[in-house]
Order: sequence, then C-alpha cells, then structure tokens
Amino acid sequence: MNIKNIFQRIQNIFKPRDDLQNEVIVKFLRILEDVRAEDMSCDEMFNRLDEFVEAEVQSHDAEKLMPLVQEHLNMCSHCEEEYEALLDVLENTK
Ligand SMILES: [Zn+2]
Repeated sequence: MNIKNIFQRIQNIFKPRDDLQNEVIVKFLRILEDVRAEDMSCDEMFNRLDEFVEAEVQSHDAEKLMPLVQEHLNMCSHCEEEYEALLDVLENTK
C-alpha cells in the first residue's frame, strides 16, 4: 500500500469530522513512516536496494524517492555494505 492510499483511507475514516485538518493527518503519516523505517527488515531492504541503486546512478535522487531505504542504510552497516557494492558494480558497468 502506498502513502496516497493510506492518506485516502484515513480521510475516509475521519470524513464526518470536517474540522480535522490535513496537517493533523500529515503528522500522523509522519509517525507511520517512522515506525515503518524502524520495522523494515534487511530482507525488505534487499528487495528495494536494486531500485534504490538504479535511481541513485541515473538521477542521484534515490534519497528523495526512497527516504526509508536511505534511513535504513544509515542505521544498518550490513545493508550499507551491500549498497556500496551494488553501486560499485553498476557504476563500473555503465
Ligand atoms: Zn539492514
């Protein structure tokens, strides 16, 4: 499920309350994001690492596109090594 879907579901839940500010929902989503970053396992990382490295090599905006992956890389030296290795391979085969 992507963030937009979550956003819509939350909006539906709170629909009767028109006074609920979007700001509140955004803050709520930020918290969800934080939780997900902590919960992301190294297995999930590997599934996304290819995409992340490709974005980085092509447009250098991987961090913006996939902030959760970047966050995990900052916390997890094991995945960071994998990332560096993959980046190396991709950059040398261009
Ligand atoms: Zn990891």
